[in-house]
Amino acid sequence: EQVELEPLVQQVINSFRQVASEHKLDLKAEIETDLSLMVDHNAFKQILCNLLDNAIKYSQPGGTVAVHGRMVSGGVELVVADQGIGIPEEALQLIFDKFYRAESGIQAGTGLGLSITKQLIHLHGGRIRAEKNVPVGTRIVMTFPKKFSSESP
Ligand code: ATP
Ligand code: MG
Repeated sequence: EQVELEPLVQQVINSFRQVASEHKLDLKAEIETDLSLMVDHNAFKQILCNLLDNAIKYSQPGGTVAVHGRMVSGGVELVVADQGIGIPEEALQLIFDKFYRAESGIQAGTGLGLSITKQLIHLHGGRIRAEKNVPVGTRIVMTFPKKFSSESP
């Protein structure tokens, strides 16, 4: 269905407020108004939850976790950015594989979160990649093509 991004991202972010404050992390969303996507509401929540869970789990106290959303030429771009421990260059693509966990991943986990996330995004015609955040941390960048996105009238 047609999902309004701003309120949905806010809703998911709010559900992470408690855990973020326990980790002494600032949590914020910067989503362009009137962005919407043709996605399954629950699948989309799942995607965001997996990414926010990682961003918080792999961050140190004092950092910021931010979700950005904007219209780009190809469609809608959504970014989850953190200032955490980061991902080694050679692992940036491997993290989307089933059961892959970087050695720096000292926190508990099964290594399934991102492979499920990637599958959900592909089901919605989107793409996902990881890149280094500058100066520290990780950016998970998702793009959804025009076909699945629109600016509400
Ligand atoms: P699960 O999500 O199944 O509980 P997990 O978090 O270990 O376990 P994924 O979410 O698939 O598994 O992530 C795979 C690996 O990628 C993680 O173990 C971690 O090493 C690395 N990773 C993922 N997100 C980040 C991030 N934001 N910062 C640093 N490392 C990350
Ligand atoms: Mg995870």
